[in-house]
Amino acid sequence: MLTKVADNIYTKVVPLPNNPLREINSYIITGSKNLLIDTGFNRPECEEALMSAFTELGIVNTDLFITHLHSDHCGLVPKFATKSSTIFASETDGELINFEVGNLYWRMLDDLFIKYGFPKAAFGRNTDIHPGRKYCHDARVDFTYVAEGDVLKYGDYEFEVVLTPGHTPGHACLYDAKKKILFCGDHILGTITPNICIELGVENPLKDYLDSLAKIEKLDVQLLLTAHGTPIEDMYGRIKELQKHHEERLEEVMQVLGNQWKTSYMVARDMTWEIDCKDWDDFPQPQKWFATGEAISHLQYLFFTGKIAREENNGIYYYKK
Ligand SMILES: [Zn+2]
Repeated sequence: MLTKVADNIYTKVVPLPNNPLREINSYIITGSKNLLIDTGFNRPECEEALMSAFTELGIVNTDLFITHLHSDHCGLVPKFATKSSTIFASETDGELINFEVGNLYWRMLDDLFIKYGFPKAAFGRNTDIHPGRKYCHDARVDFTYVAEGDVLKYGDYEFEVVLTPGHTPGHACLYDAKKKILFCGDHILGTITPNICIELGVENPLKDYLDSLAKIEKLDVQLLLTAHGTPIEDMYGRIKELQKHHEERLEEVMQVLGNQWKTSYMVARDMTWEIDCKDWDDFPQPQKWFATGEAISHLQYLFFTGKIAREENNGIYYYKK
């Protein structure tokens, strides 16, 4: 379904089959030049959905803005970019998006997770089952990198780039101050809490994320357009909820940790999760991965604030109170 959310701005809900996220919102801004914000996975279902939106709007050519490196946001960039398209992303995530093509990125991500306590898979690589890898774009992208404060003009809008590291290291939002509209990607979501996870080159993603929430809280926003779920009525209320959620999670992690050395995987196993599974053993492997990523970001935050200790043993991090 294609929905008009403001003058010349349309939402296309793109299905993400067999994925807990279920859907992504791609946004299309029309005018003398068009802009597509985020694309869906590199899978035919996503491609068909976007194609139908383009047909409905009579669009042949579009520029693209990619909020961040996750494959549900950038998987179809090579398919929807034409020779005349300008493709925007932050330099940090743009570089990682190109690094995701091929094996090296996924091997390094696997090794990073093992270092942070995720068990080595009995067969092959953990990242082989990662949905981000399965439905990743298959070609490098010639990005035009955007930096904080850059302005992109589409339709009657003047969108300023606001960098919001946390969900990914180079996550970027678009903000029109006059119209009070913010495209926030996965930085703020209504129905779920954005996953905060370790990434190559990052050590304290939760600190980055909380700083970015505080940054967005200062903007005057009336229409918040998120990449998953319905638009959020009260951005400021939702930011407060997300801040509270992470405070509570930090307390829970402290309690679960106790004063025995534990890996992030052991902590994740003992945390509470809203998932339709009997117990930890019943979690699908990708969900164990995301849960461990969440535990890592909270443990690292506590470690950097001096509340817990960290020790490296045989190349693996252990934490305790
Ligand atoms: Zn994401």
